[in-house]
Amino acid sequence: DLEGIPKITKDFIATVAEKNRNEPEFMQAIAEVAYSIIPYIMKHDIYSGKNILMRMVEPERTVIFRVPWVDDKGEIRVNRGFRVEMNSAIGPYKGGLRFHPSVNLSILKFLGFEQVFKNSLTSLPLGGGKGGSDFDPKGKSDGEVMRFCQSFMTELFRHVGTNRDIPAGDIGVGSREIGFMFGQYKRLRNEFTGVLTGKGISWGGSLVRAEATGYGAVYFAQEMLHKRNDGFDKKTALVSGSGNVAQHATEKLIQFGVKVLSLSDSSGTIYDREGIDMEKLHHIMYIKNNKRDRIHKYIEKYPKAEFLKGKTPWAIKADLVFPCATQNELLNKDAKQLLKNGCKLVVEGANMPCNIDAINIFLKEKILYAPGKASNAGGVAVSGLEMAQNSARYSWTRREVDQKLQKIMNNIHNTCLQYGEEKGFVNYVNGANIGGFVKVADAMIAQGVV
Ligand code: GLU
Repeated sequence: DLEGIPKITKDFIATVAEKNRNEPEFMQAIAEVAYSIIPYIMKHDIYSGKNILMRMVEPERTVIFRVPWVDDKGEIRVNRGFRVEMNSAIGPYKGGLRFHPSVNLSILKFLGFEQVFKNSLTSLPLGGGKGGSDFDPKGKSDGEVMRFCQSFMTELFRHVGTNRDIPAGDIGVGSREIGFMFGQYKRLRNEFTGVLTGKGISWGGSLVRAEATGYGAVYFAQEMLHKRNDGFDKKTALVSGSGNVAQHATEKLIQFGVKVLSLSDSSGTIYDREGIDMEKLHHIMYIKNNKRDRIHKYIEKYPKAEFLKGKTPWAIKADLVFPCATQNELLNKDAKQLLKNGCKLVVEGANMPCNIDAINIFLKEKILYAPGKASNAGGVAVSGLEMAQNSARYSWTRREVDQKLQKIMNNIHNTCLQYGEEKGFVNYVNGANIGGFVKVADAMIAQGVV
């Protein structure tokens, strides 16, 4: 549905699509940004005629490499490793590593592109990047995961560094994988540096880093509700996913008195009408983090809940919606269903979980909708705080980090208001896109043709 989109924007997208064939996720992320940014560029002389967006959609550098490793049977396996260094105008490349069989160049370019805007919004000096592999940690032993991570870092170490590129986790990369990669980097370089974030607390990690993405999304939702003179009182919520982001969004929602009705994974959704409390959440964490098992195991312990096999949570009636699983998990039909059920707010914990049509449905109905680059920025923000603590050879208390996180989410919300407020309505999509763009564009202009 390209109604109302200026020709210049359509032409831009067509030109970029021509250069990036078979990269649908990357083009989706570009289109969503271009719809906001191009009209803004047209109105502001300092940005026009500089081809700034055309420069931003071209990664500064992309590294693709072989990752050979030996499985438990002694067989040699090969995966593909990537690091997309998207933009370093305002700081060293920063962004997670994703290990998932779906990983390809299109997905990592979309994630790297989103990361540039997100990192700019945090107000910290962080450029954008993303990396990963099509390696599937599911069903692998700890030994296999370790050998894979060591092999992956044996190439990646040449490209990263505290002042160059600082990876972190994403889907399939948690504290275990960060530990294995950090250990290998340290052996190869003989340097103990903050080259990765999401490190263990005893070896340079930051308190609240694990919780930061989920907590941040809920803090952001709170700001959005306050702006409408509303709050969390008596609200119900749907959360999708059951990994790091979903777990900590759920935890913070429970603390704020919200009744969380669902969590999910690729096998299906658990629907608990009575609400997921802290005890139940800890059981989910045990199933997912320790057992590395599927979410239907929940039903064995809490038989009053339902398991919706192969389904997402979007048909369940609730006030608040937090998609915290993965890209394109919430489509047009889901958006319509959620609206029919009276949902008031959609806050993305994942990256690009809603497709463009779903977003347009939310904007048209003027419900509260926050794009991930604003609402899930808490994770990378605390990564930035981890880097600051590493550089200072110091660590802040839980309370100090949590307060800084809240302040950052509040600032991002203000930036969205500054650039996205329309008459009686906040367009958080425009707010986040323009707010993230301005700082990077100004830096690129100041630095010449870069
Ligand atoms: N993967 C996370 C994200 O999508 C965190 C990245 C980081 O901490 O560098 O923002």
